[in-house]
Amino acid sequence: MGYTTSLLKNNGFEAVLKDAIALEWSLQETLEYIKAFNPQYIICEPTWVSVRDDKLLLDAIGNNIKKIAVGNYATNYPYDCLRDTGVDYVAVGEYEFSLLEFFRNNGRKLPENFVYSSKKDYKMPPLVSNLDLFPFPERDDTPIKFYNEPSCYGKNVVMVSSRGCRFQCSFCNIERVYGKHIYRKRSAENVVDEMVYLKNKYKFDEIYFDDDNMVSDKSHIEGICREIIKRGLKIKWLCMGDGFVTDETLELLAKAGCVSYKYGLEHLDDEVLKAIPKPIPSERRLGIIKKCKELGLRSYVNLIVGLPKSSWEKDLKMIKDVINEDPDFIQIAIATPYPGTRFYQEAKEKGWLISEDPTYFDATGRSAISYPDYSAPKIEEMFYLGWKLWYRHIREKPMKLKFYFMSEMKRNGLPSTIKKTMAYFLKSL
Ligand code: SF4
Repeated sequence: MGYTTSLLKNNGFEAVLKDAIALEWSLQETLEYIKAFNPQYIICEPTWVSVRDDKLLLDAIGNNIKKIAVGNYATNYPYDCLRDTGVDYVAVGEYEFSLLEFFRNNGRKLPENFVYSSKKDYKMPPLVSNLDLFPFPERDDTPIKFYNEPSCYGKNVVMVSSRGCRFQCSFCNIERVYGKHIYRKRSAENVVDEMVYLKNKYKFDEIYFDDDNMVSDKSHIEGICREIIKRGLKIKWLCMGDGFVTDETLELLAKAGCVSYKYGLEHLDDEVLKAIPKPIPSERRLGIIKKCKELGLRSYVNLIVGLPKSSWEKDLKMIKDVINEDPDFIQIAIATPYPGTRFYQEAKEKGWLISEDPTYFDATGRSAISYPDYSAPKIEEMFYLGWKLWYRHIREKPMKLKFYFMSEMKRNGLPSTIKKTMAYFLKSL
């Protein structure tokens, strides 16, 4: 959305980007803003989980403003999206340049990736091969203070240096948006130019690279590191990577100002990793946490409970083994077969899916799947137990608590810090 807004503005269109959720706008406040701005078009990104709420807003906006839906859900289920949200068009796939084409034609000629209810054929747009063609994304309309990555210290600004990933995890939905598992990247110069631009324009503590996987291509991540070192840039940054990263790359990251490494470990068990499939070499799984410690990098590990071939015992062992390594952050999610993914297909075929209710699909408390030997209630119980073990662990770690406390103080001040500290404590009980 940020890229689209910049692209439209750079081409002479009046466009604004508003994130009503981040701004904590009520439905009424959102409608008042839209009324005052009085646009001809609204581009929105409904999600499968939020579609009912999205419809409430879109209905209330009325029919005088044309609405275009984009994103993962719209791409995977364009006709459902048209029906369930009442939008006029869906633009499937990577949509930035097709939206520009649409507006340049004043909406008279529809790009091939545009879908409406009576149009039965459409084409995925070609993927943009040169990501440097995009202008830097719009950030003025969406204050950076609303977008804080938990593992960042203090205030952070979000960047993206690549799209896609070379791997093909069955639960991952990125290929559903892009159509294929292809890794595309911006040039190192272009990425570092944006870092410099942000440094000169905003006040922040760290940059978070929220790529699908920033280290998917070694030459990409190492090229950026070398460019940062060459320019002598002193900016702290962190990134989302994977469990295949080598020690040498981590060393280069640390030299280039990276302060934290986040990766999707998902699980420690061979059978589970094979089933996903995500064959992270066994020595890397926890070895990354160790190496981060050695280099002074914070580590953030993503874990999933309830994956195929897992069990209560395997999930508990995995959580305990990871906590024993004492990473700086973990995230535990429930295995979630998002519609359109291979995992969803598998869950449907094997009868694991217990609900198609979107409220089961946010990965944070309800399991949409149940296995004959690992039921949904047990998976949910493991999810809460895992978090409890983690909060108990950090309760005993004064340096971690100090980090969280100081970081939250910098971001949101004392009242919010007290509230979050209390919540941490309660979750550990
Ligand atoms: S490594 Fe991450 S981004 Fe890549 S396919 Fe797997 S889940 Fe998706």
